[in-house]
Amino acid sequence: MKPDGAMNNNSFNNIERPVLIAGPCAVESREQIIQTAEALSGIPYLYAFRAGLWKPRTRPGDFEGVGEQGLDWLHEVKIRTGLKLAVEIAIPAHADACLKAGVDIVWIGARTVVSPFVVDEIAAVLKGSEVCVMVKNPVNPDLSLWAGGIERLIKNGITNLAAVHRGFDVYYSKPYRNMPLWEIPIELKSNFPDLPILCDPSHIGGQRNYLNRISQKAFDLGMDGLMVESHIDPDNALTDVAQQVSPDELKQIFSHLMIRGQQGETDSLLEKYRTSIDELDEQLLEILSKRMKVAGMIGHLKKENNLAPYQPERWKELLKDRMRKGGVLQLSEEFVKKVFESIHMESISRQE
Ligand code: PEP
Ligand code: MN
Repeated sequence: MKPDGAMNNNSFNNIERPVLIAGPCAVESREQIIQTAEALSGIPYLYAFRAGLWKPRTRPGDFEGVGEQGLDWLHEVKIRTGLKLAVEIAIPAHADACLKAGVDIVWIGARTVVSPFVVDEIAAVLKGSEVCVMVKNPVNPDLSLWAGGIERLIKNGITNLAAVHRGFDVYYSKPYRNMPLWEIPIELKSNFPDLPILCDPSHIGGQRNYLNRISQKAFDLGMDGLMVESHIDPDNALTDVAQQVSPDELKQIFSHLMIRGQQGETDSLLEKYRTSIDELDEQLLEILSKRMKVAGMIGHLKKENNLAPYQPERWKELLKDRMRKGGVLQLSEEFVKKVFESIHMESISRQE
């Protein structure tokens, strides 16, 4: 499917790259957002001011946002700075309030995108409006859930769309808050070649010192822009303290990023494939390390029960099984044999 927001005022299609969106995680007070927005305005490429009014929190009782009253303050930001406004919506009532307040960009968050009925209802409210709808990736590393949310919006007549890559919650996500798994947005782009994709390095990294590295990677992979969290007083923010940066820090970070543009198609494709290989290798190493730990535990049990580390019957069966399964996955018998012999030798030597 093909989103086509080219004729729309709030579409990213005609905006110079990279598209930058910055602002606090959450609206906390009028002063906080006016001061943040004024300090941010003037940053090259800054297109829109982001801020959350309704914060989806994991546990009740945490700061859940100021809600609708913040829309008046955001309107003031728009008048003073000329920046477009971007706000997260999670239910149709949020969409309705944003439309009435003249918000230019709304985004559907990682938790909401997976709910087909909510996405349908939000689309029904937004249909026919000028707003640009950004779709964050879901929490789970599942391309079809992300693509499904986008397709559902298109099916409901929403064509002025963009995607936001905010990383995925996976069990091996350290040191980041959410693993980038870059191959997923890369594949999304090949499914939707005309869909702008922004990266949210704040929610991927979870810490301000990762912003630079993640943002540069997004540019190197040819992403269309960034959505970054910035707060006038980050250490006293009510949400996401560790990842928010002051407008001055953000200026510094942006000024050191190398904006992709001169790179040829081949270089960019090569970078994408290499990124996939790097991530797959990381996963391979994680799995190998886990496997060795289990082998170590088996080693203890064998010792306690006076069994030899090397059990020829079990090994013969295992190798036969892995070679068969490898064949189904188009891996040659010879290759699978070599890999598993090497893994087995390492396991045995740990057990001895
Ligand atoms: C946000 O952008 O403020 C936010 C809550 O992000 P996510 O849904 O990606 O965690
Ligand atoms: Mn946040």
